[in-house]
Amino acid sequence: METKTIFEKSVKGRTGFSLPKCKNAKDIEDFFPKDILRKVKPNLPEVSELDAMRHYIEISAKNHFIEKGFYPLGSCTMKYNPKINDIVNILPGLTNLHPFQPEDTIQGALQIMWELQNILQEISGMNAVSLQPVAGAHSEFAGVNIIYNYHKNRGNKKTKIIMPDSAHGTNPATSALHGYKAIEIKSNNEGKVDINTLKDAVDSDVAGFMLTNPNTLGVFETEVKEIAEIIHSVGGLMYLDGANLNAMLGYIRPGDIGFDIVHFNLHKTFSTPHGGGGPGAGGIGVVEKLSEYLPYPKIEKRDEKYFFKYDMKNSIGKIHTFYGNFLVMVRAYIYLKMLGESGLRRIAENAVINTNYLMTKLKNYFPVPFQKDVMHEFVASGEKFKQFGVKTLDIAKRLLDYGFHAPTIYFPLIVHEALMIEPTETESKETLDNFIETMIKISEEAESNPEKLKNAPQNTPIGRLDEIAAIKNLNVKFNFDN
Ligand SMILES: *Cc1c(COP(=O)(O)O)cnc(C)c1O
Repeated sequence: METKTIFEKSVKGRTGFSLPKCKNAKDIEDFFPKDILRKVKPNLPEVSELDAMRHYIEISAKNHFIEKGFYPLGSCTMKYNPKINDIVNILPGLTNLHPFQPEDTIQGALQIMWELQNILQEISGMNAVSLQPVAGAHSEFAGVNIIYNYHKNRGNKKTKIIMPDSAHGTNPATSALHGYKAIEIKSNNEGKVDINTLKDAVDSDVAGFMLTNPNTLGVFETEVKEIAEIIHSVGGLMYLDGANLNAMLGYIRPGDIGFDIVHFNLHKTFSTPHGGGGPGAGGIGVVEKLSEYLPYPKIEKRDEKYFFKYDMKNSIGKIHTFYGNFLVMVRAYIYLKMLGESGLRRIAENAVINTNYLMTKLKNYFPVPFQKDVMHEFVASGEKFKQFGVKTLDIAKRLLDYGFHAPTIYFPLIVHEALMIEPTETESKETLDNFIETMIKISEEAESNPEKLKNAPQNTPIGRLDEIAAIKNLNVKFNFDN
C-alpha cells in the first residue's frame, strides 16, 4: 500500500493541539510591519495528534535502524546508543540554553565541554582538544588547516600530503582543499603501509601523513612509530583519522605512538545515532606545539570558573557557528562517564572479538584478502560470485530481504567487489550467528538461484531502485504549493 504524505492526509479544520484564546491579544500587525507579513496562509497539514503519530511511525518503520535490526555498515560504527544519552539530552537546562548567554549563566554547559575535552585528551594522549568541528570530514578540514598554518608560520615550503591507498576519500579531499597534492601510496600484501614505498615517496616537500588506524581494511597498522620517524625526519606532521576509534579505546593512545593530530567522530565511537543525516560532532586533538592553532574559542578553567578563551595567537579561527553541536557533546559525555576506563576497554575488546568471530566463520564463503591483525571490521570480497553473474551489490540487496542492513560495499577500493563488515561491540552472539547463517545461505543462493539475488530486494517496502536515475531525476513528493 502506498503511503500518503502528511499533506494528503490533511482534513480541513482537524486539529492536534489547540491553545486557549489569549485575552487582550494584540493583532500581529502591531508587532510586525504589514508589508513583511505573508499574504496567504501557509498550506500546513491539518491532522489529529493520533494521525500524526501513526503517520510518522508508519514511515519510520519502513526504514532500517539499529533498534530494528543488525546494521553492519563498515566504517560507520552503527552501534547501539544507550537511551540514557537522549534522556539527559532533553533536560530543559540544556536545551533551553542560548549561545549568546553570558558565561556565568552557562557554567554547567561549559563544565561538560571542558570535562569532555579532558577525557578525549586522556583517551588520545593529546595535549589539547577542540570540540568545534561537527563531522569527521570537518575535523579533517580543521586538521589539515592546522598543518597548513603550522608550516606557513615556520616558513616551510610544503606541497604534498601522503596517505595509503586504503584511505577514506575525505583524506585526499581535505588535502586538496588546502592546495596540497594528495599522494597515495600502495599498501603491502598485509594491507598495511609499505615502509619502503613510503620512504621512496617522502622528501622535504611532505607536509604530513594521514593514516587511519585500524585502517579501512580493519587492519591494525603496526609500524606507526617507524612511519612517524620517517615523516618527522622531514618536518612533516602525523595525522590520525580516528573516525573509528573503537578498537583502540583504553589500550593505545595515538599521542604515545607518534601522532600529532587526531580527530574523533563522536557520532561513531562515542554514541550519537547517525546515518540518517542527524547532527554529528568531530572533535580534534593536537600535541602541545599545535595547541594554539586549534579553532577558538577553547573552553578553559581558572579559579573554579569556566570561560571561553578567544585569545589564541595562531588559531585557525572559527570553523563553525558558536561552539559546535553541543547536544552531541552531551551524549558523548554521558556515555563516557557511564563507561569509565574499564568500560572503554570492554568496547575495544568486544568490537575486536565480534569482528574476528564473524570473519572466521565467513571467510570460507566470502574470501577475506587481508586477515592479519584485523580489529573492528573486516573486508570480504564477493568477486568469486561473478562467475554466476552475481555482484556484491546483489548480495547486499539480498541481505535486506532477510532483515539486515547491508555492509558498506565497493570500499575500500583495494578489495574487488568489497563487503566491509563492522559488527560493533553491542551485538550478541545470537545476532552474529543469525547473520552468519544468512550470509552462508546467500552464498548458496548465488550459485543455485542467482536470479533471486539479482531481483532482490523483494520483501522491502520498495524494490531495487535505479540509483543513478534517482539522483539525476530527483522527484520528492512535496505539495507546499503556496
Ligand atoms: C566516517 C569516516 C570519516 C568521515 O566522517 P564524517 O563524520 O562522515 O564526515 C572519515 N574517515 C573515516 C575512516 C571514516 O570512517
